[in-house]
Amino acid sequence: MPELTKIKKQLQQRQFQLESRVTAINDDVSHKNQPLSADWAEQAVERENEEVLEALGNASLDEIQKIKRALQRIERGIYFECDECGETIDIERLKLLKATDRCTKCAEKLEAIRN
Ligand SMILES: [Zn+2]
Repeated sequence: MPELTKIKKQLQQRQFQLESRVTAINDDVSHKNQPLSADWAEQAVERENEEVLEALGNASLDEIQKIKRALQRIERGIYFECDECGETIDIERLKLLKATDRCTKCAEKLEAIRN
């Protein structure tokens, strides 16, 4: 299915993008490029920035995990199967949420439980 090839490529590109971002964040947080400033007020700002960066990094890592799982699902030929009920996940849904492993119905059920 050419659609799947396209989705796979987009997932791989997204993974690459996220991995570069995580690398950049790690470099930044570890002060590879610039030493911590001597001024304590500036240090406080820098630490705050680091926290934001770390949160961004963690969100990126989460997404990378999801993408990896989706790519494994493609390899195993179960990309279109809902992990929950085994029904086929709608292609339109997968085009929007490429890393999802649930059909619309199960995702809605999950949302209902959470809320
Ligand atoms: Zn389902």
